[in-house]
Amino acid sequence: MSTIGILGGGQLARMLALAGAPLGVRFLAVDSVADACAGQVAPLLVADWRDFAALEKFAARIDVATFDFENVPAETAQWLAEHTRVSPNPRALALAQDRLAEKSMFRDLGLPTAEFATVDSRADLERALSTIGCPAVLKTRRLGYDGKGQFRLRDAADLDAAWQAVAGAPSILEAWVPFDREVSVIAVRGGDGTFSTYPLVQNWHANGILAATLAPAPDAAALADAADSHARAIAEHLDYVGVFALELFVRDGRLLGNEMAPRVHNSGHWTIEGTACSQFENHVRAVLGLPLGNTAALASSVMLNFIGELPDARAVLAEPRAHWHDYGKTPRPGRKVGHATLCADSPAELRERLMHVARSLGRNEQAAPVLAALAKM
Ligand code: AMP
Repeated sequence: MSTIGILGGGQLARMLALAGAPLGVRFLAVDSVADACAGQVAPLLVADWRDFAALEKFAARIDVATFDFENVPAETAQWLAEHTRVSPNPRALALAQDRLAEKSMFRDLGLPTAEFATVDSRADLERALSTIGCPAVLKTRRLGYDGKGQFRLRDAADLDAAWQAVAGAPSILEAWVPFDREVSVIAVRGGDGTFSTYPLVQNWHANGILAATLAPAPDAAALADAADSHARAIAEHLDYVGVFALELFVRDGRLLGNEMAPRVHNSGHWTIEGTACSQFENHVRAVLGLPLGNTAALASSVMLNFIGELPDARAVLAEPRAHWHDYGKTPRPGRKVGHATLCADSPAELRERLMHVARSLGRNEQAAPVLAALAKM
C-alpha cells in the first residue's frame, strides 16, 4: 500500500494517520521536534525542513507528500515537488502563505474581502490608516495563524505600537469587520477534479484561536451555495488536490473571505464523528487518487477546543455520543492540546447535551455562544 509523507508532525498529522490506517495507508511525518505528537501513532523522521539530505531520505520512502502546517518553507515544497508528488501543489501552498496574494485571489475570483492595503513601511501604514480608518488590524503577510502576527488598532494613536508589533515585516492593514458571525467551509478536490464540500459550520474564536464549532451552521442553507461556489472557484483556480478550509465572515447576509488553510482544518474536526467520511480520510483519499467519500452530516455536532490544558476526560466520556480527543501533547499556554465533539439527532438535543457537558467541564463561558445559537435553531 501507499505511504503518505507529512511535513509537520502535529495533531493534524496524527489525525490523518489515524484516519488512513483502516485503508492500509502508511505514513511518515517529518518534524524538527522529537516528541511531535504524530510520532505516537506513525513513524517520525526528526529533521529540519531545510535539511535537504534528510528530505532526500524522506522523499525516497513516500509516494506523495502533504502538509499538516502551511508555513513549510516554499523552497522545501518546491524541492519536494521535484523529487516526489506533492499535494496540494507548491503554488497553492505559496499562495495561502501570503495574506496579500490570498486576499487578492479572493477578490479576483469574485469573493469580497474586508478593505485592505499593503504595508511595507511606517509611511505605508500611515497612508493605509488614513484611507481604511479605525478600527483596523495589521497582519503580517506571512507566518501568521491563530491570531499570531496580528495587532488590532483602535485609533491612530496605536500606529507605533502596531508597527513595532509586526517588527517591520511586510504586512497588510485590514479594516475591522463588525461581522455577525464567522463560518467556514471544508472542501475536498480529487486529482480528477471531483469536488465536494462538508456542510457549512459556524465558528467562535477567543484570542484569535478557534474555541468552538457548530455543524451544520444555523441557517446554513442560506449561505451554503455561495460558500461552496467560492470554494470550488478557488480549488479550480489553484488546481488544488486535497482538503482545504475557507474561513468567511458573514455580515448582513453577505460572505467576506478571511483566509484559506491549505490543509485539514480545526473547524472540520467534528467530521470524524459527524460524517461518514471525515476530512482526514477524504484528504488521504484525495492525495492518493482514491474515490472521495460522503461529506453529508450524520448528526448535529459541536466541537469544543481545549487550549493550554485538558479538562477531566471523564466528564466527556460519561456522556453518550460525546467523543474525546487527547493529542498527546505537553500542556502549554495557548497550545491546542485536544478537543471534544458532541453529536445529537437535533439541535434541541445537542443543546441539552452541550449544557450538561459544559457544566461538568466547568466550561460554561466557552459553550455559551453555541448554546445561544442552538436555542434559535
Ligand atoms: P485570522 O488569523 O486572519 O484568521 O484571524 C483570526 C481571527 O481574528 C478571525 O477568525 C477573527 O475572529 C478575527 N479577525 C481577523 N481579522 C479580522 C477582521 N478584519 N475583522 C474582524 N475580525 C477579524
